[in-house]
Amino acid sequence: MDKFEVARTLDEISRYLELSDSNPFKARAFEKAARAIENLDQDVDELVTSGAITGVSGVGKATGQIVEEIVRTGTSKYLEELRGQFPPGIFELLRVPKLGLKKVGVLYSELGIASIDELEAAATSGRLARVKGFGAKTAEQILKGIEFARLRESQFLLPVGIEVGELIRERLAGIAEVEDAEVSGSVRRRLEVIRNVNIVVATKKPAAVVKHLSGIVADVSELDERTYKGVARGEMDVLFHLASPAEFGSELLRTTGSGEFVSAFGTIAKAKSEKDAFEKAGIPFVEPERRETPDDLQKKKRTKLVELSHLRGTFHVHTTFSDGRNTVLEMLSAAHQRGWEYVGMSDHSPAAYYAGGLSEERLKEQHAEIRRHEKSVAPMRVFRGTEADILQDGSIDYGARILSKLDFVIASVHSSFTMDEETMTQRILTAIDDPNVTMIGHLTGRKLLAREGYRVDHERVFERAAERGVIIEINGNPNRLDVDWRHLRRAADRGVMFCINPDAHSIGEFNAVITGTWVARKGGLGPKQIFNTRGVEEVAEWLEGRKTRR
Ligand SMILES: [Zn+2]
Ligand SMILES: [Zn+2]
Repeated sequence: MDKFEVARTLDEISRYLELSDSNPFKARAFEKAARAIENLDQDVDELVTSGAITGVSGVGKATGQIVEEIVRTGTSKYLEELRGQFPPGIFELLRVPKLGLKKVGVLYSELGIASIDELEAAATSGRLARVKGFGAKTAEQILKGIEFARLRESQFLLPVGIEVGELIRERLAGIAEVEDAEVSGSVRRRLEVIRNVNIVVATKKPAAVVKHLSGIVADVSELDERTYKGVARGEMDVLFHLASPAEFGSELLRTTGSGEFVSAFGTIAKAKSEKDAFEKAGIPFVEPERRETPDDLQKKKRTKLVELSHLRGTFHVHTTFSDGRNTVLEMLSAAHQRGWEYVGMSDHSPAAYYAGGLSEERLKEQHAEIRRHEKSVAPMRVFRGTEADILQDGSIDYGARILSKLDFVIASVHSSFTMDEETMTQRILTAIDDPNVTMIGHLTGRKLLAREGYRVDHERVFERAAERGVIIEINGNPNRLDVDWRHLRRAADRGVMFCINPDAHSIGEFNAVITGTWVARKGGLGPKQIFNTRGVEEVAEWLEGRKTRR
């Protein structure tokens, strides 16, 4: 049993408990257990077998029993019971901004609302405004929110698509009649937001494979003789493309897309492997991430794209000193275990008070804490830095006296997002001009599927960053993936240097360097354009060099 599968079941229980509001602590206990399971280093099956599962921090007696049941039976009776109390699909209401679980629960118990359409009807008819805690103004906001939710309907963040795709691929691969199965489509292209999952299945017996599909996804329907559609997790469309083994490669190429790329490619000859399909067409292989536009076909000389294994360290790491969930030592050890040569620690600055920004005093304490532990992670080098707020006027929180002592400074916007483009651009340009600034963090502040980024003139920012030698971060947090990959190539051509950062708030979130690397690849960047592909000596020297210029 996959630990993420267990965690998801616990999360679902927690969500239902919050809906029914019987006991808020109970919901939280399941959520806590879910996070604990997710972060396990050991095998969850083994922990259950040995009985050590209730000893895991965050897993209590009651939650431990349910984990055990999930591992043994694949499901939980308690969850089935909770599911039975609400109509299926009630969670789609959460797509409406400002509607949390509590409110969804109230709407269901008061008005029997369980879908977006029913919510819309209640808001329009005035019934909603009469529910306690809602009112006319809220009803109006909810109508606006419904519009927003519909625009984003059936869109998912890339990691969700990868997880669903991989789990289904594995199950397909276990079927005797399946010779090969691979995820294609936008998930394989590593697009940041996806609408569905595509899987190519090589088989000589398509009819036999089709019989298995309803055991893997719900609502299986035939689109054409070779293409079947189903729904995973009650919300995500999955397309199955059945192909004979002799045309697995050509089918993979065709369904990986994009549509534009494939039509520009021209005729795709039947081929067993994708490599063969490219060869038959006389076109040099294009990495899946780079198959968005016809332009990607034309280039004669292609940049060798950066790979995860090229990264020799990283920056932008939070700890419990500000809003991180793991201690300095835990974060350092996790970085060390990844085999990195260096890591740059950067908690928040005082202006980010809501995120526990560090006073000068606390910053000193953090440095002492780093000093205490850095021997244990040697020879990995620990750089002392900060993620300092870019204040409204573009000056940097802490000020020069403190900033000039640090090894590096990531400057980020965390406030006043709604400035007009010109003011915001000036704000960021002023920050870039500050000699203490090493990098600009999450350039637009966007949260995918949740919040647009602030408006900023990318071209002017890139031009100034190249001029001043300020690095632009590629924030690898899957919710951010900021700066957008569509800008990268142009910026790199101007001479901008990038750094792939996880913006990690826990040891698990170091994985964001993986998603960050996909962004860099999608943008067509090679290792030379990525600062953290450099070795520790070179990086230390570079940072030192900037310091002396301050
Ligand atoms: Zn930030
Ligand atoms: Zn951060």
